[in-house]
Formats: sequence, structure tokens, C-alpha cells
Amino acid sequence: MVADTDILIVGAGLAGAATAYHLVRRTRARILVVEQETVPGAHSSGRNAAIVRERVDDPVLQTLMTEGAGHLRNGRLAEFERRGLMLLGLGDEDVRSHFPRARGVGLWCPNDGTVDVARLLHTYLAGVRIRFDTKVTGWTTQDRDLHVNTSRGGIMCRLLVNAAGPWAGGLGDLPLTPMNRHLFATTPIDWVSPHWPCVWDIAGGLYFRPEAGGLLLCCCDELPAEPGDYREDPAMVERLAEKVASLQPDLGEFSISSTWVGQRVFGSDWRFVIGFDPRNERVFHVAGLGGHGVTASYAVGRLAAELIISGDTEGPAPFMPSRLL
Ligand SMILES: Cc1cc2nc3c(=O)[nH]c(=O)nc-3n(C[C@H](O)[C@H](O)[C@H](O)COP(=O)(O)OP(=O)(O)OC[C@H]3O[C@@H](n4cnc5c(N)ncnc54)[C@H](O)[C@@H]3O)c2cc1C
Repeated sequence: MVADTDILIVGAGLAGAATAYHLVRRTRARILVVEQETVPGAHSSGRNAAIVRERVDDPVLQTLMTEGAGHLRNGRLAEFERRGLMLLGLGDEDVRSHFPRARGVGLWCPNDGTVDVARLLHTYLAGVRIRFDTKVTGWTTQDRDLHVNTSRGGIMCRLLVNAAGPWAGGLGDLPLTPMNRHLFATTPIDWVSPHWPCVWDIAGGLYFRPEAGGLLLCCCDELPAEPGDYREDPAMVERLAEKVASLQPDLGEFSISSTWVGQRVFGSDWRFVIGFDPRNERVFHVAGLGGHGVTASYAVGRLAAELIISGDTEGPAPFMPSRLL
């Protein structure tokens, strides 16, 4: 029997889309993305803060963050606003010179900013074959191929790429945990300029940036949850108010106009999972992008595509799924 496709990517979020983007440019293999929803980016990739933040604590992740941020900054993939980012607690520059009414000293990262994530997904997926409204429910091995069961019938493929975001742990039998995080948008605030930077208090767990004439704020909550369970926790508004009052009192009072919840997905060491499954060489994982999947997406997709094309099952070790099993 001839397979329906060579590489089947499960998930049209940033992980699956960026992997498809690099694969179509590097191989003539047939690629098909299947997505359970009717649009791309309906889950984590459409529920984030869109901040491109290069600097992280982990030197292993840092290489992919630097590469990813570099490609987003040139603006060719999607509109990038170089608004700057202040990381409070890491340096000694005064925030107020960049964001009046914000308090503290930190590291000024002038080249960071925000990116149009919907446009980024669109760029990654341009020219890629996608089947929406198609949910993968499992697979069986048949000779050299996989028979993949979906809500719309079977698909034969040579390799399945698990880029299922919050569902990646269950789908790929990996120990990955989705963690809910709330984002809050305020009503317009007359003293906020739309071009001011992002401010991120690393130790205090609070970040904010201009959004739609007001502010977008996050109190950096991390609540384990089932995939796709976006129930709001009313206690988070209180927690946000407390953090603003203690860490950034000069922001004053504001009204919340909308709240939404997204899921960041982590393995036990908080590093990405990019590599072949040690239990089945026909399965490859691109998952556990945590809170960095926007910034790192280009680099994550590049690495995944290179490993898939070379068939390299050994490395790089810090990202391999085997470390979690
Ligand atoms: C509140 C919040 C704020 C964030 N802020 C930032 C930020 O400012 N900067 C940054 O760099 N990162 C940020 N992130 C992280 C970033 O959003 C994620 O790392 C990234 O979106 C993960 O992409 P993904 O493709 O792995 O997951 P997803 O976007 O969830 O994509 C997975 C896709 O797989 C599909 N799928 C799942 N199971 C199946 C199945 N069985 N069959 C078919 N399809 C399936 C889903 O429908 C979904 O579309 C934030 C995350 C959150 C939650």
C-alpha cells in the first residue's frame, strides 16, 4: 500500500506550523498538517502575550531563543514592533525612563518587542497542505508505515509529528503538564502610550505592556490543568491587584475589560521536547514549548526539520524525549 503522506504533523499551532515551514523548504517529502479545530492557533498559539523576549536563564534554551528572536526581529515573517523589554531584577537601569509610572531597576533589552502572532502562523503555513476539523485519536504500526486514526478516517504516513500542544503529553504518552495562565486586558488608559515597552518583574512574577489603548497584564500564575480546560479562576484578579499594589503601585487603578486563559506546557526540566520517540522511530515530538513558543518557534521548527530529514535519533540530548521517559 502507498502511504497518503510521508510526514503527518498533528497540530497547527506554532510548533507544528514552524516545523512544516522548514520541512517544505528542505525536503520534497509530502507533508500534511491535521488540526482538530477549524482554524490554526486556536489554543496556546492564539492565547499568549506575543512578547519576543530573547533573554532566559537556561543556557540550553538560550541558543534557540536567540536564533528565534533574531528571525522575528527582521520583520519578514510577521510585523514586529521593537518596543523594548525591561527585565526587572537583572540590571540597574531605571524603568521610568522607558515606561513612566513603572517602578524598579533592571536589564533593558532594546531589541525585544512584540510580534503579530496570527500573521506569523499564516506565514509558516502558507503553501502547506492542512486538513482542519480532523482530530487524531491514535495509530498503529503497519510494516514501514503508521496507520493513523482520525475523526475523519484513517491516514497512512511514514512519520507522525506530535505537535499537539496541551494534548501532546496524552497523544504521545509523554510526561508533559499543561499549566493555565491568565492574561488581563484593561479598558483604555489615557496616560498609556501604545509604543511603550514591555516590563517584566522576574522575581515578583508580574508583567505588563501596552495593548489596545490600555494595558495587558499577567500575574504569572501556573495552575496545572487538563488540556483545553480554560476555566477562569476568580482568585487571579485578586492576585493581580495585590501584585500591582505591592510591586507597581504607580500604575494606579484600572478596569479589566477582558480576561483569557491559555496553557503553557512543560516537562519536568522545563526544556522543550524536540526529537524522535525512543519507543517508536516513526513518531517525532515537537512539544513542551512552555512560555517561549512564540519567540523560539522559528528555531524550534528549524531544529525539528533538520532532525527529521537527517533521521538523527541521538541528539541534541537536552531536547530529546528520552530524557523524560
Ligand atoms: C498566557 C500565555 C502567554 C504566553 N506568552 C508568550 C509570550 O509572550 N512569548 C512567547 O514566546 N511565548 C508565550 N507563550 C507560549 C506560547 O504561546 C506557546 O509556547 C506556543 O503557543 C505553543 O505552541 P504549540 O504549537 O506547542 O501549541 P498550540 O498552539 O496549543 O498548538 C497545538 C495544536 O494542536 C492541535 N491538536 C491537539 N491535539 C490534536 C489532535 N489529537 N488532533 C489534531 N489536532 C490536535 C490543537 O488544536 C492546537 O491547535 C505564552 C503562553 C501562554 C499560555
